[in-house]
Amino acid sequence: MGIEEKLPNGILLTSVEKLVNWTRKTSMWPATFGLACCAIEMMTTGAPRYDLGRWGMEVFRASPRQADLMIVAGRVSQKMAPVLRQIYDQMADPKWVLSMGVCATSGGMFNNYAIVQGVDHVVPVDMYLPGCPPRPEMLIDAILRLREKIMHEPLNERRREQLAEEAAAGRGP
Ligand code: SF4
Repeated sequence: MGIEEKLPNGILLTSVEKLVNWTRKTSMWPATFGLACCAIEMMTTGAPRYDLGRWGMEVFRASPRQADLMIVAGRVSQKMAPVLRQIYDQMADPKWVLSMGVCATSGGMFNNYAIVQGVDHVVPVDMYLPGCPPRPEMLIDAILRLREKIMHEPLNERRREQLAEEAAAGRGP
């Protein structure tokens, strides 16, 4: 009798999934990417008073290749949207996006032709954080919730979402 028959169904896969998700959630590095006033609160979150270093995230990476969390902190102008998308595309998989503040999420009070009315028109968003601006405690709370979400993510879900997005954009295999 093989080991698979002795163990309850799925126990090995579940354990591997938990281990991989645990490593992913505990090794997130944010990209250095501030767009407007919300970015001041994001910078404060990384400073000693709020100490994002408690979760190993104090080093905001200057290169998107070394980052796996994009915190969209502030309004996204139409001119900035393609740049934001390019930075997102340059980040290694798996990667996550946190929309910080009402402007990034919906355009906020800037309901005009110059501002993208929600960054989810440009990149897929994993966590929305309300507020104008959200305080550092709120950003930390959103990051912790995102970490919990990552912990329960099926391993192949990221890849499935990526393939669906590429197919929708006509970039599929
Ligand atoms: Fe600035 Fe408020 Fe918009 Fe943040 S939500 S970018 S603080 S106006």
